[in-house]
Amino acid sequence: MTHLLESYADIAGQDVINHLRQLSEPLHGMKVVHVNSTRIGGGVAEILGKLVPLMQDLSIDTSWEVLEGNEEFYQCTKGMHNALQGNHMQIADHLLDAYEQVNRDNAERLRDKLEDADFVFIHDPQPAPFLLNCPNRRGKWIWRCHIDVSRPFRPVWKYLRRFVREYDASIFSLAGFAQTLPHPQYIIPPSIDPLSEKNMELPEDEVRAVFTDFKLDPDRPILVQVSRFDRFKDPLGVIRAYRLVKKFVPGQQLVLVGGGATDDPEGKIVLHEVREAAAGDPDIHVQLLPPDSNRTINALQRAADIVLQKSVKEGFGLTVTEAMWKGKPVIGGNTGGIRLQVINFNTGFLVNTPEGAALRIRYLLHQPEKMREMGNKAKEFVRENFLLTRHLREYLTLILSLHYGGTDRIELG
Ligand code: UDP
Repeated sequence: MTHLLESYADIAGQDVINHLRQLSEPLHGMKVVHVNSTRIGGGVAEILGKLVPLMQDLSIDTSWEVLEGNEEFYQCTKGMHNALQGNHMQIADHLLDAYEQVNRDNAERLRDKLEDADFVFIHDPQPAPFLLNCPNRRGKWIWRCHIDVSRPFRPVWKYLRRFVREYDASIFSLAGFAQTLPHPQYIIPPSIDPLSEKNMELPEDEVRAVFTDFKLDPDRPILVQVSRFDRFKDPLGVIRAYRLVKKFVPGQQLVLVGGGATDDPEGKIVLHEVREAAAGDPDIHVQLLPPDSNRTINALQRAADIVLQKSVKEGFGLTVTEAMWKGKPVIGGNTGGIRLQVINFNTGFLVNTPEGAALRIRYLLHQPEKMREMGNKAKEFVRENFLLTRHLREYLTLILSLHYGGTDRIELG
């Protein structure tokens, strides 16, 4: 009896757990390797930290490797990330050289393991060239894209596509992100782990402690956005929305918190811009969080009246899922993966501008009953669609379909 998986039965249902066991049986002992570019910070690290132990628990020999880059490499991949999410920007040749060199070096370090694996999941653009550096691979390789590539800056996508098209399959979070590629593309939205420190129920006093820790007044409304300090998350737009509301509803407080990801060199600059924009208002709390702040983030999301995620581009937005799971109405940017989660007027509100966000904040602050109703719907929507168990099921199904390829029948347990 596997213990870890069993602990999800109460939340997801015993039938879901049994189904996962059945799906994994033909895969026992198979070697699966996930590769990304950071163990800490950002959604991919968050997901792998949970998915990998569960796959191990299902007797699939799963490991997680992290690419080690240098300054030029991260500069290049941040530029690539920005370009793939639509910014028009060329990437200098010397940065692309550094990108390819770091990939060659890392692939050499990991080659034996990767070439021997049955399935290799390469997450995002950072390690995409690994495949070309592992010419003797025996397994299937899948490129897993977590970012919003609905309207990439073409020259940069064209460059990256040279690497991606060699894979056996790719995975995107939304149908709208799929590209023209010569292999099967799968749509698998991400998920949250309801039992993790980030999402588990917390004792009341731990939630109340954030009022003291962040110097918040529990009797006045609290708006929260948790995000890396990244322009796509639009923290300045959030401050603008808060200021617009404050003209009409005085007293509200805004908390903008986030940590850096080790593969994100722009964070410091954006944090500085945010601090400048917030200066002089004691009710705006901007704080850089250390990497192990899961319980603090959990408590903050629970302490919030409204959670904002005013991104202008978003691959998925785990912070949205996390807040919805805590029964909070989310006001989210009308973009990418947020649209999959925030059903406008139902599980939250979708907005295009700071003015739109301000309008919805005012509306909700005046209607506590609506806030509760939206929050409850949001939680159930996450239970049905965005828990780790569903995510795992889709990964197992994908592995099975690639493994059995053209066979007419797959016999499961
Ligand atoms: N996160 C965190 N600490 C921070 C900021 C974010 O642990 O200081 C977590 C956040 O709770 C979420 C993930 O990092 O689980 C961010 O994922 P998301 O999809 O929202 O955005 P990404 O950073 O991947 O663009």
